[in-house]
Amino acid sequence: MDETNNSIILKDTFMTDGKTASPLLTEDTKNLIIDIDGVICEDIPNEEPERMPGAYEIPRAKDIINAWYDKGHIITFFTARTEETRKVTETWLKKHGFKYHEVLFNKPRGGHYHYIDNAPIDSTRFEGCFDELLERTKNFPIKNK
Ligand SMILES: [Mg+2]
Repeated sequence: MDETNNSIILKDTFMTDGKTASPLLTEDTKNLIIDIDGVICEDIPNEEPERMPGAYEIPRAKDIINAWYDKGHIITFFTARTEETRKVTETWLKKHGFKYHEVLFNKPRGGHYHYIDNAPIDSTRFEGCFDELLERTKNFPIKNK
């Protein structure tokens, strides 16, 4: 049976021996994990939280991310901001009209991320312009088969 959690549809999966495995999204749905500082707004360090309410938006971020949300993809913001900034961060996201499912805080700081998982991973480094990101990653986030 499929499971619905906050409008996220997960399909039950099983190991070849019949044991239950972790459920999966449908094939045409992606878990999009998106940074906040330097990707959807100016890069503000935890040491200057007073700047967070007035952060400027990165152009096109909201339009593109909200379109992914509207297509049914799962939008999770993953930030090195600390849990103490949850209120100011969620208030900013709401004020600026970003659609998302969750915000995860306390991402390790310092960059140079290397992610290890038993699920497939695609990654794209954001280099300041959403239109260039889309150009570099044709058909992102769903590739043609
Ligand atoms: Mg960042």
